[in-house]
Amino acid sequence: MAHLRIEDKLCIGCAKCVKVCPFGALKMVDKIARVNERCTDCGACVDECPVDAIVLDRPETTGGVDLDAYRGVWVAVETHDDGVAHVSLELLGEGRLLADELDVPLSALLLGDDVSGLTDELIAHGADVVHLGRHPLLKRYNTDGYVKAAAAVIEKYKPEIVLFGATNNGRDWAGALATRLGTGLTADCTGLAIDTENRRLQQTRPAFGGNIMATIITPNHRPQMATVRPKVFPVRSAPGHEGRVIEEKVELAESDLLAVLREFIPAKAGFNIAEARIIVSGGRGVGKPENFQKIFDLAEALGGAVGASRAAVDAGWMPYPHQVGQTGRTVRPRLYVACGISGAIQHLAGMKTSEYIVAINKDRNAPIFEYAHFGIVGDLHEVVPELTRMLK
Ligand SMILES: Cc1cc2nc3c(=O)[nH]c(=O)nc-3n(C[C@H](O)[C@H](O)[C@H](O)COP(=O)(O)OP(=O)(O)OC[C@H]3O[C@@H](n4cnc5c(N)ncnc54)[C@H](O)[C@@H]3O)c2cc1C
Repeated sequence: MAHLRIEDKLCIGCAKCVKVCPFGALKMVDKIARVNERCTDCGACVDECPVDAIVLDRPETTGGVDLDAYRGVWVAVETHDDGVAHVSLELLGEGRLLADELDVPLSALLLGDDVSGLTDELIAHGADVVHLGRHPLLKRYNTDGYVKAAAAVIEKYKPEIVLFGATNNGRDWAGALATRLGTGLTADCTGLAIDTENRRLQQTRPAFGGNIMATIITPNHRPQMATVRPKVFPVRSAPGHEGRVIEEKVELAESDLLAVLREFIPAKAGFNIAEARIIVSGGRGVGKPENFQKIFDLAEALGGAVGASRAAVDAGWMPYPHQVGQTGRTVRPRLYVACGISGAIQHLAGMKTSEYIVAINKDRNAPIFEYAHFGIVGDLHEVVPELTRMLK
């Protein structure tokens, strides 16, 4: 419903508003402007009116949320068997920058069972405060336990921003928690910034199938919550940084959980390309699914994981979790070997920050060579097995 009003007594019938409206939502009727259902409340006409006859009533939608009561930037930490997830350290680095810009402390929310040994690492990556919630039912991630425990601490301290890794668990946790807290969530962000005028978090992410980048804000609710893909931000350690740990009481019973995890079977190593230090990727140039064995052999010889372009995934040669790029995974390995991949912008978006890029392509003009530190012009069916042989 439009919130635009025309003050009939002020309207002089100049029709300037009609000309400026991008939606054809204004018409002159008996020399007075009239608004119809096409109005989107964009406000373009308001500034154009020379006699202030157009009024846009902004509805009060904060639902009574006192935005000023919320202060501080938090990172919701994810843990694995071997410690803090890499993405949480990346988020602490970015969270530090946001907190400094807002002039507030950076806090880490650390939930788990036997996790007190991880607090030093969080402080050494920029956290001023670690809120530590320990409970046997938080040993492994589970939606109900983590949402209940996190909601209690967040409602107590009221941070203005909470960041999560856009991992399987982070996405689940953030989504359920945002619903519980009655606030918004921007998923899969690739960029974050602060609008210092109003302390709003500007959350940028691909939209409409990756064709545009949208910047999303949460103007009326708090906290502002976002998930961020792994490897989007670098890890920034803060040696010598000092922080404190606050032990939070966690009240949780098995009856709070819809499902109780009895056994955990870890995934096979080498599958998770987001965490791999070496990735060998194949594209359309690989030619057919059987040829991917050559890519696997080289990856094995290098001790790395196997990635793929979207062309290879769409062709059914590799499953989607291996896809690198804008609509796949963002990776930042030490070494990225691109075999038979042209270097389309959407592929580059997911790997161009790799430390070393090696490209193997038979077309010397392929765009990938502009980003590669080392290039081999040749047929991958000859070059890749030869490289594998030499490495072995
Ligand atoms: C909204 C959107 C999102 C997208 N998201 C992604 C994404 O996440 N990831 C992604 O990868 N793409 C994505 N794409 C697709 C992207 O635009 C490209 O189409 C895709 O990356 C091309 O894959 P490719 O390089 O394997 O294939 P091609 O572009 O066809 O390139 C194949 C290359 O192999 C080389 N070649 C062929 N035979 C040999 C050989 N025997 N030896 C050596 N080299 C050889 C060729 O010279 C060529 O350079 C997206 C597109 C859109 C529109």
